[in-house]
Amino acid sequence: MPPSSDLSLRDAPESLPEDERAAIAARIVEIRQALPETVRLVGVTKTKSAAHVRAAYEAGLRDFGENRLQEALDKQAQLQDLQGVNWHFLGQLQSNKVRKAVQQFDWIHSIDSLKLAQRVDRIAAELKRSPQVCLQVKLRPDPNKAGWSAQELLSQLPQLARYNQLRISGVMVIPPFGIESAETLRIFGEASILADKIRNEAKRQVWSNMSMDQLSMGMSGDYQLAVQAGSTIVRLGRTIFGMRG
Ligand SMILES: *Cc1c(COP(=O)(O)O)cnc(C)c1O
Repeated sequence: MPPSSDLSLRDAPESLPEDERAAIAARIVEIRQALPETVRLVGVTKTKSAAHVRAAYEAGLRDFGENRLQEALDKQAQLQDLQGVNWHFLGQLQSNKVRKAVQQFDWIHSIDSLKLAQRVDRIAAELKRSPQVCLQVKLRPDPNKAGWSAQELLSQLPQLARYNQLRISGVMVIPPFGIESAETLRIFGEASILADKIRNEAKRQVWSNMSMDQLSMGMSGDYQLAVQAGSTIVRLGRTIFGMRG
């Protein structure tokens, strides 16, 4: 039979070789032991197969992050038998993909504008869903990244407070690539202070959709620094699953 992309997907191995599964499990155990118990570990499986998700699930992981919608949907379709998975959407969310994202994900970490927040809120109401969301902030200039500046975000809180279908759970930040660790740590610290500020304001104003008690920060290269600065959710890809192709 001639190979086609469809067939190669269907023929993809259901599970990884034993040694690869063992290696993934060992890394999860090792990372978990080093993390405070209160920190949620999200395994980022972008570019990796459904079999990678399955291997990590078997090792006890229940939170998985993806940054491209279609790729995530394809994997989810192969993993419907897994119970109790929390799916986290991490990537830039185009407005025409909001409906699918709200249907298929429990968390959206990448809410980066009022317009997107409003749209997610409206569609979530239609679908009777209430996703947990993080507000993505950009605390240094970075042409490669989306996100609110601290100023912008603080000034737009009253509008965000009206989106009652959202559970606005925290901030998400990705420091610019290639900066020194002292600067990375400063950025994580600033994100933490910003989240505190928003949480206090939300309390004062009794904005019930804004708990703001989560800090989604830390990737393979910087998660120890993020934890030092109070991260509650680390998003790890390469350090669990190995380099991406
Ligand atoms: C890819 C990605 C990660 C994981 O990155 P690693 O360096 O592989 O740990 C985390 N967060 C977001 C938003 C990503 O796109």
